[in-house]
Amino acid sequence: MLVIAITGGLGSGKTTVREILEDMGALGLDADELARRVVEPESEGARRVRKVFGGQFFDGEGRLDRQKMAQRVFSDQEARDLLESILHPLIKEEEARYLEEISKSKPDAVVVLEIPLLAEGGVKENYDRVVSVTADLETRIRRLFESGRYSRVEAEARIQSQATDEERASVADYIVDNSGERARTREQVAQIWRELQAARRD
Ligand code: ATP
Repeated sequence: MLVIAITGGLGSGKTTVREILEDMGALGLDADELARRVVEPESEGARRVRKVFGGQFFDGEGRLDRQKMAQRVFSDQEARDLLESILHPLIKEEEARYLEEISKSKPDAVVVLEIPLLAEGGVKENYDRVVSVTADLETRIRRLFESGRYSRVEAEARIQSQATDEERASVADYIVDNSGERARTREQVAQIWRELQAARRD
């Protein structure tokens, strides 16, 4: 098994690159999916978040309103650190469980995970290879705006609060420039895929 981390700033194209790798035969895992799993109703994560932040962040079925939670902690560093300290260990446990399962059931797999905050304090050593996805700032802001998830101002503020492309480059084995058309990105990813196949044979 080869475990590949895909990192990159907000709207850089992590999901896009993960999906291309999945098309090529990799087994993808969305970190966002892990983050959702650890706060499912009745879970340990949901219980701890409720205890610390209160029931107003949950709906009648015990589901965490992640959007509301994100708004609550966005401009409050202390609250963000607190939430992070609750969720991060649980997410890592979930990730380890998943990888353990795959290493047994599919030992030849190339597994790809999105790790948005790898340069901000993730553990690079947990992964065999790190791919950093970049795109110029204007392009990212425009794509995020067009996706309907953020206003331009919000997208820019979030991007500014993250690590820089230079910091991400320092933890990366490969860099994919996703500023251009998807076909250009696919070509770069195909090259990486060939190198990964060769690495697996060695
Ligand atoms: P987030 O940080 O929000 O998780 P991300 O890094 O996973 O984002 P994507 O979701 O892959 O980035 O891309 C952000 C947006 O830009 C999406 O709406 C996606 O469809 C679009 N997009 C990504 N790459 C390209 C491209 N090369 N050409 C055009 N649109 C693109």
